[in-house]
Amino acid sequence: MNIAILIKQVPRTDKIKIDKEKGTLIRKGVESILNPYCEYAFEAACDIKKRLPDTKITVITMGPPSANAVIERAIALGADNGLILSDRAFAGSDCRATAYALSCGIKKALGIPEIILCGRQAIDGDTAQVPGEIAQMLGIPMIPYITEIVDISDKSLTVKSEFDNKELTLSAGFPVLMTVRKGSNNRRMPSLEETLKAFSTEPEIMGAEEAGCEKEKLGLSGSPTRVVKIVPVAAKGNCRFFNSGNCAEGFAEIGKILKNI
Ligand code: FAD
Repeated sequence: MNIAILIKQVPRTDKIKIDKEKGTLIRKGVESILNPYCEYAFEAACDIKKRLPDTKITVITMGPPSANAVIERAIALGADNGLILSDRAFAGSDCRATAYALSCGIKKALGIPEIILCGRQAIDGDTAQVPGEIAQMLGIPMIPYITEIVDISDKSLTVKSEFDNKELTLSAGFPVLMTVRKGSNNRRMPSLEETLKAFSTEPEIMGAEEAGCEKEKLGLSGSPTRVVKIVPVAAKGNCRFFNSGNCAEGFAEIGKILKNI
């Protein structure tokens, strides 16, 4: 069983500010972390490996060479191999161009693996579009928002998937791509021994040409969408405090307002 997990290095979004003049994000000096939803996807893969020990886990990221930090963390936590797709030709890629580059990298490194796992969304881009686009480009089915792997054999799996306040139990054969949302997984810290093992495991670095990408499908030229401007959204609602010191009066006032609404 081969599992590819797509992991993304993201800036700590709670620390990012917006340059109001230029309408761009100020990323300088902001710490980079492994996208938390990718970490849940990773834990789902480790759960599969516990049940089917012959499983091989490959973590793949597209990003600058510094993205090696998230690959090292994943190897420390139990991945067998790491692949970084890194090339200037990828710069400026929107979701479709990103999905295209990742699809090419997956095919080149693993063919079509039985399972591809992704986070439900990246906490910086937040579009949740990349996994669906990859599934479409590779021509494989997708199950979004899984929270639990109920059962798995070498032929099929059954998972729980949660969206729109509904929990679905779904089955699929292989290959399948799944996105993982926060479920029953607990995030782990690697031990010192695991961290040392990660430092001695060299991830493969693959450029656009080696991945078999057509250059015009990458970067700005391969991106049908553009970020024109970024502005912080101002809170629109008014906030009123009822602080009369008398709860009954406060509730009566709130009641009047709710009636009018
Ligand atoms: P999502 O779709 O929310 O991510 C879901 C999951 O997909 C992740 O949890 C992960 O498993 C996987 N995934 C996503 N991205 C990666 C990755 N890189 N490596 C491995 N796995 C991944 N970025 C720039 O740097 N320069 C630009 O000029 C630029 N222009 C953009 C223009 C537009 C219109 C948009 C929408 C985005 C642009 N971006 C740009 C951002 C870039 O496209 C996104 O970072 C990228 O497409 C991933 O989208 P996302 O963050 O929404 O991921």
